[in-house]
Amino acid sequence: DAAAVRVELGERSYDILIGAGLIAAAGACVRRLAPGAACAIVTDANVAALHLAELERSLREAGVRYSAVIIPPGEQSKSYGVFAKVCDDILAARLERGDLVIALGGGVIGDLAGFAAASIRRGMRFVQIPTSLLAQVDSSVGGKTGINSEHGKNLIGAFHQPSLVLADADALATLPLREFRAGYAEIVKYGLIGDAPFFAWLETHWRGVFAGGPDRVHAIATSCRAKAAIVGRDERESGERALLNLGHTFGHALERINHYDGERLVHGEAVSVGLALAFRFCARVGLCEGADADRVEAHLREVGLPTRIADIPGLALDADQMLDAMRQDKKVERGALTFVLARAIGDCFVAKSVEAAEVRAFLEAEL
Ligand code: NAD
Ligand code: ZN
Repeated sequence: DAAAVRVELGERSYDILIGAGLIAAAGACVRRLAPGAACAIVTDANVAALHLAELERSLREAGVRYSAVIIPPGEQSKSYGVFAKVCDDILAARLERGDLVIALGGGVIGDLAGFAAASIRRGMRFVQIPTSLLAQVDSSVGGKTGINSEHGKNLIGAFHQPSLVLADADALATLPLREFRAGYAEIVKYGLIGDAPFFAWLETHWRGVFAGGPDRVHAIATSCRAKAAIVGRDERESGERALLNLGHTFGHALERINHYDGERLVHGEAVSVGLALAFRFCARVGLCEGADADRVEAHLREVGLPTRIADIPGLALDADQMLDAMRQDKKVERGALTFVLARAIGDCFVAKSVEAAEVRAFLEAEL
């Protein structure tokens, strides 16, 4: 039950290892990557309680010097204040430029610790040990790091690639089901963007992915391979990388209208609704078959994800609010709505100027 995916970025290429027991193997991996280097582990209190002792034991056994910075869990930690504390704690541990930052946790930790690593001494190496499914299939791969501003999410940040990613498929055993499902929506996304056979495989194997074992490793590895290929061709999102936003124009708008209230709606759930909306929109304008939109929706519903705006409890909104929220997305350029559209399952493309009127008519029919 193990796989390796290489992200090809010239001198900054790195490996993503996916498999069981990788936290326990981290000490040896780190020593091989950076002999003699010390480490600062950044993690949140939830993950620390569950997985930090195992990582520390592995580092100790490999003779790697380490310290740990534990921050409160949740999106609120992607802030200036917590960022400053993490940087200062890493500096206080007397880490030098050749030493390593280890991000142990979900996407919040990866984004925050990665941005600290990008900033401290103008760039320290860092290792991602993603522990949420979303982080394993998405945020730990590709080098986007950052924090939030009162002006919006992820507006302060840097591109900083990790030197190694260790995705321990067993670490997901402690992840709440709701978080697992949310990460699964991003896995579905990769099938929809460019890999119809993978989507079909998920339709028949999703129970194995949820259960753990080889199917889970396969789904994570296939997702990482899809993201790595796109990032390798378009690291800075000048074109193709935008495909990864399939479902996200609608999804981000829903999250914004919901004021990022994670009790009501987590990111992956918003993406799930967004994926279904994107396919229904494409079916409505005659770009793809209605049967494809139905298949997408049926699969997401089968695993327990929401696919309709009405599935989000107590979120009242109208089409104009959605359009306003979509226009505020940082990916929107000079008023034109950029959308990822589908010709079919596994055949998506970036459309630069989608008519707002068409989107409004669609949303009015949806609501
Ligand atoms: P998260 O880091 O907040 O993790 C979700 C919850 O699960 C947290 O409460 C966390 O403590 C807990 N958790 C994590 N691993 C666990 C485990 N193994 N067992 C038990 N609990 C565990 O959120 P997330 O969903 O992992 O990531 C969301 C963040 O990722 C957002 O800030 C988003 O902006 C960012 N993101 C970044 C990129 C990128 O390319 N950099 C891409 C997508 C998302
Ligand atoms: Zn996403």
